[in-house]
Amino acid sequence: MSLESSSTLQNQGISEPYFRFRTVSVKHLCELQHHIDILRRDGLLSNNETFRSYIDGKRFAVPESFPDACFVIIMAVFAPLALVGFHYKGKRFELMLPPNYYDDGISQEQLQNMVSNRIIREQGHRIERASRNLLVKTLAARSGLGKYGRNNLCYVDGMGSLLTLHAFFTDYAFEHDDWTDMRMMDACKKCRICMKECPNGCITEQKFVINVDKCLPLYNEVEGQFPEWMPASAHNALMGCMRCQLKCPANRDALKSSVRFEDITEEETAAILEGTVDERLLRSLSEKLRGFSPTTSLGEFPVLTRNLRALIM
Ligand code: SF4
Ligand code: SF4
Repeated sequence: MSLESSSTLQNQGISEPYFRFRTVSVKHLCELQHHIDILRRDGLLSNNETFRSYIDGKRFAVPESFPDACFVIIMAVFAPLALVGFHYKGKRFELMLPPNYYDDGISQEQLQNMVSNRIIREQGHRIERASRNLLVKTLAARSGLGKYGRNNLCYVDGMGSLLTLHAFFTDYAFEHDDWTDMRMMDACKKCRICMKECPNGCITEQKFVINVDKCLPLYNEVEGQFPEWMPASAHNALMGCMRCQLKCPANRDALKSSVRFEDITEEETAAILEGTVDERLLRSLSEKLRGFSPTTSLGEFPVLTRNLRALIM
């Protein structure tokens, strides 16, 4: 079963995020787990500490607390690229904050209501968030919701790669199971743009799986110095990396919907670069950058100082 939401339910006066979804039976979860187990056993998963911290806690399985779950709903919600102006030494630097790094304002409750009212459309069924436990990108690809780009990102029709993924278990038995083979986007067949754009050479002709050990987000999402092998010119976003997405033809339309957040003042930029932060500044930055994680606690703030220095100093 699949359905595309209208961008808004304006006729009814209800604003709703643009989303698409697919549904797969939980009977396929063991197949996915088996595949991951084999990759792990054969040493084919990167040992990068940050990468492993993202995947090692995940298991494709029905939760013990929800034995009646029979389907997984996988949702992609459009999330625009955000742009933020930083004022520094009389100049304005417009920097990118990619989706998934800022709070898009869509609560879990809102998502669950969308699942209940727009997908299941029948009251009385249990719905439980599954995104914490499952590798949702894999599920998006195996459900046909998304296709892989050569850059190994998940692309969804109408959103490009600018999206957030969510998964929910439910005891509602859908009539249709969307399980399918993993596919690469047709647009990638004759295209090599991301391969040329990647500053760290992660994308190659020989292997479809990118070299995650060199992928920038694994270094700028966490504390610590950037590795010596990484060129200074690699840095391009406040967190994460947009290099393989910006010139991607499959993102042309989605990038037109980029949003602009409130500018960061000279005083605020100087304080970030010096690492002199107090609760008042943290609050102001967190509001302007919509809950961007380094602005939510003093402990995480050094990540923003380091990333901003790499971009404008
Ligand atoms: S830049 Fe080209 S090859 Fe890379 S993901 Fe986009 S369409 Fe595919
Ligand atoms: S996210 Fe950046 S570093 Fe990673 S593959 Fe894309 S361009 Fe390369």
